Amino acid sequence: MTQKYASILDTIGRTPVVRINHIAPAGIELYVKVEAFNPMGSVKDRLALGVIEHAERTGALQPGQTVIEATSGNTGIGLAMVCATKGYPLVVTMAENFSVERRRLMRFLGAKVVLTPAAEMGSGMLAKAIELAETHGWFLCHQFENEANADMHSRTTAPEIVEACAGERLDCWVTGYGTGGTLKGVSRVLKKERPEVTIAVCEPDNSPLLGSGQGQRRHADGTPAESHTAFRPHLMQGWTPDFIPKLVGDVIDGALFDQLLPIKGADALQCSRDLATREGIFTGISGGATFAGALQVAHESPPGSVILCVVPDTGERYLSTPLFEDAPTDMTDEEITISQSTPRFRFDESPADDDVAEVAADEEAVAVTPEAEAFVAESIADRERPVVMFALEWCEFCWSVRKLFAHFGIDYNSIDIDSAAYQENDWGGQVRAALIARTGMPTIPQIFIGGQFIGGASETFDAFKAGELQQAFSKAGVGISGAEGLDPYDFLPTWLHPR
Ligand code: PMP
Repeated sequence: MTQKYASILDTIGRTPVVRINHIAPAGIELYVKVEAFNPMGSVKDRLALGVIEHAERTGALQPGQTVIEATSGNTGIGLAMVCATKGYPLVVTMAENFSVERRRLMRFLGAKVVLTPAAEMGSGMLAKAIELAETHGWFLCHQFENEANADMHSRTTAPEIVEACAGERLDCWVTGYGTGGTLKGVSRVLKKERPEVTIAVCEPDNSPLLGSGQGQRRHADGTPAESHTAFRPHLMQGWTPDFIPKLVGDVIDGALFDQLLPIKGADALQCSRDLATREGIFTGISGGATFAGALQVAHESPPGSVILCVVPDTGERYLSTPLFEDAPTDMTDEEITISQSTPRFRFDESPADDDVAEVAADEEAVAVTPEAEAFVAESIADRERPVVMFALEWCEFCWSVRKLFAHFGIDYNSIDIDSAAYQENDWGGQVRAALIARTGMPTIPQIFIGGQFIGGASETFDAFKAGELQQAFSKAGVGISGAEGLDPYDFLPTWLHPR
């Protein structure tokens, strides 16, 4: 990883296989292949690159054509990276119940995310993707049926595992399935090159699609004809959609797996937490679930056995899910006890000050110059731009006023006295000195409307609550919208405005 790479796409794959040192049963060697090392943090970066480059080679995808896919998140995030790199617009359909981090990540990478109702499950988001692709002539990735998905794993993931274990014992490989790309692509290579390796497939214990022994009805193109009757909503995002994907069906038909492991949700969460706190390995819920499967196998294996599992993604994608329930935002009782074990910098000792304290201006006296006085006077009297805020570029109080003005949909003159431009010859300092001399107020921001001094952030918010701000806007001829039912204090960050 110390070389130069021509593109981020060249860093996909070659993920490390890491030994488990503390939570493996005695006498068993356990390894995890950590897919979080992929550039967007999941195994699906492989699929994204595999599917897009296959479509480019076959001509199914034309330059500039929009790519679309139904995904529970990681595929979309990987596709967003690949499409950003290669210049394809991307639309993702996703059921609304997958974690919000995923949507925001995809949008951050430039993708459009179209949500579908949770009640319609995985097949609903897929049907929506098909409908949009057919209507608009977009390229649909078909991750659940696309052979390029499994092929990518046969070309990359599988040889990486074979290489990592070359000349050494390997008894079992453990995986879950989402599309089944990892499962099909790796299992067929292992069956050929390491036929002694047992292949164990995990699925949620409450959603036993494979465990039910019931097949899946499909359309001619391999897409599911209906939801599988054994499907139940489960915890392991990215695993086991509400149908048996074509790629998984191929594995069943080809007898490419040996053992089926039902995984309890609680065990998945516990394993993810144990991997983090005892091994320093950070993976999501399906990673914990896969590891729970590997531990089941480990407990049933004779001493000396070697087991390897793939943990599919990073844990960072699950901050809003039950995985992080035990990692709260506020201090726990134990943390408060630690805080109170020494005298200073404590919340219980500082005087309670409910007032909003704006950023204090610098103490050092800067001379009030006639130029700065004139500038302040002219800025305030400007009829073209009657709303003026003397501000600091990145101050939280200033930002809360900016958010309020943005909410009102108004334009204003922001005079950012600490911006790089205002720092030249301390012009910002002179402006601040002139401002303080004028208003007698030492803090920033300071807001003027139509020449009238309103005050700082809290005075502005209070003036709104009293209806005076609205009057000032109206007198200055500035129309505002969205004033009803608004509490401007909500625009302050919660650490400045405890609720
Ligand atoms: N875990 C997570 C978090 C996933 O996003 C996925 C892919 N949907 C998987 C596991 C399963 O991988 P595959 O699609 O290759 O079966």
